[in-house]
Amino acid sequence: MSESEFCVVCGATDRPLVDGVCAPCASDRTVLVTARRQGTVVMCPHCGAREIGGRWERSGSSRLLIAEDLTPFLEPHPEVGIRRARWEEMVVSANQREYRGHIHLVFRGVPRDVEIPLTVRTVSRSCPDCSRKSGRYYTAIVQLRGPEDGRPEKPPALRNRLERVWTNLLKEARPDWRKALSWTEALPEGWDCYFTETLAARAIAKLAKQRYGVPVKESASLFGRRHGQEVYRVTFCLRFPPGADSSASGRSGGATTATMEQ
Ligand SMILES: [Zn+2]
Ligand SMILES: [Zn+2]
Repeated sequence: MSESEFCVVCGATDRPLVDGVCAPCASDRTVLVTARRQGTVVMCPHCGAREIGGRWERSGSSRLLIAEDLTPFLEPHPEVGIRRARWEEMVVSANQREYRGHIHLVFRGVPRDVEIPLTVRTVSRSCPDCSRKSGRYYTAIVQLRGPEDGRPEKPPALRNRLERVWTNLLKEARPDWRKALSWTEALPEGWDCYFTETLAARAIAKLAKQRYGVPVKESASLFGRRHGQEVYRVTFCLRFPPGADSSASGRSGGATTATMEQ
């Protein structure tokens, strides 16, 4: 390149040229940066961690997408260096967000500001930590109890006979109801059986009513909000009189089966 050469676009003679064009003119005629057409951000809805390249990072960070989430979706021209990116949120829907990026970059030593639209898909997925914790997630409890009045039973004996009743009930329960049973807890007054599906818990309570003629007491309590919706937990209290475990023979009917044999 000799000093007499000039930019074929603007005529400038005091600038380095590439293919006869100075850097400012070349930057005007070059696509400096594009955005990946459909970027996806996978986020844990519980703790805000992001799944990046198969690994979970940044637990505890905001649900808002920031430059750290968005700037990696930029695909700059090979001769571009991105210096700064500021992202303006334009549209947010359940699983898609639209941004306008204000990108400050350098192309062959010439600074440029570029605006670029970006659309990202957001996917909610529980991270392994939160999945483990939410193993304790439930929506309904079936409480197995003895009668409210009458002779008090010793806890181990009470739990044993309630367990027999429960085992018989589960044998008759549909497989999907059994699958919704997450765990059980032993209590002095009986058992609490935790369900991840309220419909399954209700179905088993109804089955107990049919088989053993026991009343079902249902109550609900608001326990919080999950994904913006009010969530209720439902409790079904079943009181089995002594002898219910031995006298239930799979027959339905409303007649009480309590015989007080003990
Ligand atoms: Zn020029
Ligand atoms: Zn998480």
